[in-house]
Amino acid sequence: MMKHGFNLAIDGPAGAGKSTIAKRVAREKNYIYVDTGAMYRAMALYLIRQKIAPEDTEEISKACMQAEISIEYQHGEQVVLLNGENVNAYLRTEEVGNMASYSSAVPAVREKLVELQRKLAKTADVVMDGRDIGTVVLPDADVKIYLTASSHTRAKRRYLELLEKGETADIEQIEQDIKERDYRDMHREHSPLRQAEDAVLLDSSGLTIEEVVERILDLCR
Ligand code: C5P
Repeated sequence: MMKHGFNLAIDGPAGAGKSTIAKRVAREKNYIYVDTGAMYRAMALYLIRQKIAPEDTEEISKACMQAEISIEYQHGEQVVLLNGENVNAYLRTEEVGNMASYSSAVPAVREKLVELQRKLAKTADVVMDGRDIGTVVLPDADVKIYLTASSHTRAKRRYLELLEKGETADIEQIEQDIKERDYRDMHREHSPLRQAEDAVLLDSSGLTIEEVVERILDLCR
């Protein structure tokens, strides 16, 4: 594969802090931040709107062909367009996240989104986060990070994030959901979540955001 820009891949489980960290690193380095989870979430939103059940693999394979997903940057923020509609405001709910963890296991969904992700990484310097960036999407990435944290820490972060948005949340339920989502992401047949052999492992449980960002900037130097 011909490569043009600098590619930094950050993978890890839900709530490990990938997007917060990736955004900061992107700002520091003047790279484009590509949130691949948001693409899977936009696809999940489409499927929810079509009233398709999470386990209905066959319908998901068919329906995903009708969903045109693209991304744009407005004031440096990634905007996900679903059939032309800006759907950013609907993506970060537990319902959409849970659907995404099912629909993202469907090969037709992955093929479509991986193609878009590779195109983006070819044309620009990117920080891309997800589950399979270092292993599948950008195996030749310049730097690969596997960012994780304990499920308790991750549940607490997600809980605070939801409260901040004025949503009500049950922290134990969130931790349960996180564990189930981890299990599905790590045990699926296609592109399961795992640390690439050449990825650097970072556990953010006892670290501040700044400390994690510094570690990554060091690795990019
Ligand atoms: O990271 P985020 O929680 O937004 O991702 C939502 C879901 O999308 C994940 O649980 C995972 O199943 C899926 N995903 C994926 N591959 C990626 C990014 C996200 O399968 N590269």
